[in-house]
Amino acid sequence: MIYDKRKVVIVGAGMVGMSYAYALLNQGVCNELVLIDLNKKRAEGEAQDLNHGAAFSPSGIKVTAGDYGDCSDADIVVICAGVAQKPGESRLNLLQRNTEVFRQVVTSTVNSGFNGIFIVATNPVDIMTRVAYDLSGFPAHRVIGTGTTLDTARLRYLLGNYFDVDPRNVHAYVMGEHGDSEFVPWSQAMVATKHVYDIFRDNSDSFNIYDIEKIADEVSNAAYSIIEAKGATYYGIGMAIVRITKAIFNDESSVLTISTKLNGEYGIKDTFLGVPTFINRGGVKRILRLDLTPEEKQKLMNSAHTLDESYNMLSVDLDRSKKMALK
Ligand code: NAD
Repeated sequence: MIYDKRKVVIVGAGMVGMSYAYALLNQGVCNELVLIDLNKKRAEGEAQDLNHGAAFSPSGIKVTAGDYGDCSDADIVVICAGVAQKPGESRLNLLQRNTEVFRQVVTSTVNSGFNGIFIVATNPVDIMTRVAYDLSGFPAHRVIGTGTTLDTARLRYLLGNYFDVDPRNVHAYVMGEHGDSEFVPWSQAMVATKHVYDIFRDNSDSFNIYDIEKIADEVSNAAYSIIEAKGATYYGIGMAIVRITKAIFNDESSVLTISTKLNGEYGIKDTFLGVPTFINRGGVKRILRLDLTPEEKQKLMNSAHTLDESYNMLSVDLDRSKKMALK
């Protein structure tokens, strides 16, 4: 019998990392899970706690607290490590500090001999994914950001509620930056195979087309309202990362709005941002090109400009072409 090893390492055993770990365990997605954190004691406690649930997990799994040496034979390394914004700290300063965290995390992971796929959740996720790509020297298909996967799930949930249908039958995306410049390309939104515009047209006594803007606003303000209520968001993103992990392990070619490097699609080059993308065992298989309206294309372009501006202010301080030459 061939042993199908599925090994995941989580760097950053905080709220997001552990929500992901808990969902992994409950869904039986991998059989080896290693937790790495600056706070080693915390990682050890989390591993112990999770292992006590192993008897109730749908499949066997071994959870340990470890170090970067454990990445050498991992299939996926998920980065949820990050520092919190200090009072009065600028976004750029936070970005620079998280870049320093990534310099340590990504370099140590790569130096272990890791040859798998990075999934990045740390915010601002599109820029941090690009930084991980720069620092690792890995090809872009093996560096995936969570992008607008969570925002898309929020949209599907809200539209499902609004139309009173199962969110799994709602096919609509949030695209662009995981942040303020994200948008919903309504020209692509369907319930089952019926376009939402047609549903509004055929059911004008029940639904009002002007409500779509309220729904889009609720999606983009969701994180703010959760943070105001409970300090942080973690369950939804934990499950979103599990969804990406399953698409990789099961070689699904599923379409998810992860953050990936654009290579001229929609007129954008080199920026990492959330676009519907096929994910399989090798990571990014290809980007799905949608027929966006000119207005939607412009919104995506604006999102890319916003991200490029922040990225260009960062000093990542490396020469990617040199790193590639070393590989
Ligand atoms: P948290 O503070 O609970 O956890 C962060 C963990 O990272 C801590 O345990 C800390 O010790 C660890 N850490 C810091 N520096 C490290 C290093 N150099 N090496 C190893 N571990 C290190 O934070 P959280 O709530 O889990 O959030 C984590 C990140 O996820 C944040 O950047 C947050 O903004 C982001 N997030 C992203 C999304 C998304 O949709 N992508 C959603 C929610 C949160």
